[in-house]
This record gives sequence, structure tokens and C-alpha cells, in this order.
Amino acid sequence: MTALEQSRHLATAIPGPRSEELLARKGAAVARGIGNTMPVYASRAFGGIVEDVDGNRLIDLGSGIAVTTVGNASPRVVAAVAEQAQHFTHTCFMVTPYEGYVAVAEALNRLTPGTGEKRSALFNSGSEAVENAVKIARTYTRKQAVVSFDHAYHGRTNLTMALTAKSMPYKHGFGPFAPEVYRAPLSYPFRDAEFGGKELATDGELAARRAITVIDKQVGADNLAAVIIEPIQGEGGFIVPAEGFLRTLLDWCRDNGVVFIADEVQTGFARTGAMFACEHEGIVPDLIVTAKGIAGGMPLSAVTGRAEIMDAPHVGGLGGTYGGNPVACAAALATIETIETDGLVERARQIETLMKDKLGRMQAEDDRIGDVRGRGAMIALELVKPGTTEPDAELTKAVSTAAHRAGVIVLTCGTFGNVLRFLPPLTISDDLLLDGLDVLAEALRTL
Ligand SMILES: *Cc1c(COP(=O)(O)O)cnc(C)c1O
Repeated sequence: MTALEQSRHLATAIPGPRSEELLARKGAAVARGIGNTMPVYASRAFGGIVEDVDGNRLIDLGSGIAVTTVGNASPRVVAAVAEQAQHFTHTCFMVTPYEGYVAVAEALNRLTPGTGEKRSALFNSGSEAVENAVKIARTYTRKQAVVSFDHAYHGRTNLTMALTAKSMPYKHGFGPFAPEVYRAPLSYPFRDAEFGGKELATDGELAARRAITVIDKQVGADNLAAVIIEPIQGEGGFIVPAEGFLRTLLDWCRDNGVVFIADEVQTGFARTGAMFACEHEGIVPDLIVTAKGIAGGMPLSAVTGRAEIMDAPHVGGLGGTYGGNPVACAAALATIETIETDGLVERARQIETLMKDKLGRMQAEDDRIGDVRGRGAMIALELVKPGTTEPDAELTKAVSTAAHRAGVIVLTCGTFGNVLRFLPPLTISDDLLLDGLDVLAEALRTL
């Protein structure tokens, strides 16, 4: 196989003829509920490039939604997967266990914040891990209620739909949802400034007090098993809470016998310029949920946390046929080795500097860019009607479509559909990243 050239290249229109053919086959064979961001079919991917079936080379600013953080088809991951697949592909860890699973648990216990004794359990998807974190918190506390936040995204299974805030497209028509789930107000500095004044936008403790009052009055600590929160929200719009928000919430949970669960499915594994986003606030959650970036593209997820909480469920109470599949575990170990050996946490910080510099300059000249935010290689633009905070979803859609046509994979998010989000693989070159951002700037200029 020849190396994939690291440059943007349009061989045909987007989509090209072979993608058009596959789109037609998809329409006739795949349920329409499964949507696509890009109208092109992938054939290869490496570094910062995804090549499609028509030979177009696209700049990857999405990493398959924050999954291929170490790069697509990353060499150590590919070798580990091939090696493990030759030995065995599955035995079921609950039937005849294997070392890889234990080694991944050891790595997670070592890497996650906190120095106390920890345990981990492995699953397949982020949603499945979130569900298990709630099961664990409920058995430990012998309480039932769970609080999540405005704009939260925790998955698409029944319990995680209940935890997720946004109805369309995640929940619409799919109820009834799991009971005993309550929602509290988030710290959303860009919007809090408008509705709650400058103090609420900058004082995380104040924003946390607002949330705690709602929790106290509408649920009550005596009924509350867990609070679950993304330290930086993903689908909700890359919302970084005001400093002190997470710490105040965590302290309240500790004082009230409530398990604090950090959903680091999107933020984990070097994505934000730290191994885990909680480290930016120096907090140690009781449980931490990981998935996406954990295994270089193989399906794997985990719950990691304090031993006495993790060990609360009875023997046999946790598990699943595929959880901690041996090939996925081999990929995870190779992914972690790559992050540590190649200095990818530091690379995420470089990407932050480069992107915030460029996007900040764009914002200074364009009053439709309301906010530039995020950490590491998890950066977003919130687009608004000129000079206001009114969301502009139409412009956001138009910019992303123009970028797609020009050969750049970019994703949108946010409750109001007005956030352009960037999640480049950490192996992308500066040149490719800058070319991708230039395409975006050009799209904004001409719209
Ligand atoms: C993607 C995501 C999930 C769900 O993960 P799946 O693997 O899609 O089930 C949960 N929480 C967060 C924060 C996510 O970004």
C-alpha cells in the first residue's frame, strides 16, 4: 500500500460518481434514520487526510467524532490489532479471561486523575459505559435519582437518551424515557453573560450554586445517586464551564453522598491538551467514563473509579458479551503507548495555540463569530447574527456545506445548531490544519 499523500486534493466534484453510486445503494439498503455528515464514501485515511472512493483527499477536522485522536490507521494500533487477531478474536472475558483486558484496566487506573485505589470495567460504546456508571452509582449509594445538565449529551440508549438534553434528533419520538432523571442548569459563559450577567458568566461557583439550588429543591440529596457531567460539553457545543463550576459541584456531591461521574467520552485521551479534561480544573471525579479516543477507532469504552464504588455491584452484576473485546484492548494499549511516546498531550496544546490564534484573528474581523472556545484539539466557533448572541444555524450549515465541497471534513453541534466544531487528529500537520482553516475563512467571507 502506498502512503497517503498529506494534501487536500479534489479529483471530482463532492460527491464524485462512485460516491453517488454508493449513496444510491445506501438509500435502498440502510435505514434512513442513520444520517451522514459528508456525502462521500471513504476508502483510506491516515494522518490528517481521509481519501474517498473517487480519489478526493479531504482534510480531517473531525476524527470520526473525536475517535481517531492518535490518527487513523495509526501504525502501532494497526500492528497490535493484526497481531491480536491472529491469536484469538474473542473468548468473552466473563468466560475465559485474557491479559489484555486486565492491562487496559491497569492503564486506566494509572492514567485517570486521583491516586487512590481504583478499578475499571470495560464495555463497547460510550452509551453503554454511561449506563453502567449509573448502575454502579445506584448500587453504591442505594439511591436512584440522577442529575444531568442543560445541553448534555450522554448517548442514544434509553437511559442515556433521558440524560441527553436535546430532543431533535436524539430523542424525538423515542420515548418514554427512563425515570428518575433530572436536569440542572449548566455554566455556559457565552450565554450566561446575556441572561445572567457578567458575574454568572465568569464566576463558576455562582453558576454551580444556581445548579445546586435546583438539585436541592427538585430532587434532594437523599434521593440522588449521581450527578453526571461532561467537563467540556461535546455535542452541546464545546461549552467550557466557568472556572470553579466543576469543583463546587464536586464538593457538594462529596458532602452529600452523591457520586460525581465525569463523562469524558469525548474529552478523554489527550483531546483537550491533558490526558483527561478534569485535570484542567484539578478535580478528581468518583467515576470517569471513557470511550471514543480510547482505542484508535476500535469499539471500546470503560468506567474507572474509586475501588469501593466500583466494587459495589455484586459478582456477575456487570458485563456483556463483547465488553473489553481482546482486539479492542490491544488497540487501546497501542493507543495509550502512542499518546505517551509521541507526546500527543503536548501536541494537542500546540494545536490549541495555532487554532485559537487563527480563529481569534477571524473573530476580530467578523461579528458573526460570537465565541471562539474549547481546549486542546477540541475547539469551536459559535456563529450568531451580526453583533448579537442570536444563534445563526443557517449560516453554520452553509459554512460547513461549503467546507465539505472544498474538501474539508467539519462537524457542527450545539443545542441551537450554530456551532462549528473542530476535532482534528493530533497527527495532523500544521500545514494541513492551516489549509483547512483557510477554507473555512474563505467560506465565511463569501457567505
Ligand atoms: C459520543 C458520546 C457518548 C456516547 O458514546 P457512543 O459510543 O456513541 O455510545 C456519550 N457521552 C459523550 C460525552 C459523547 O461525546
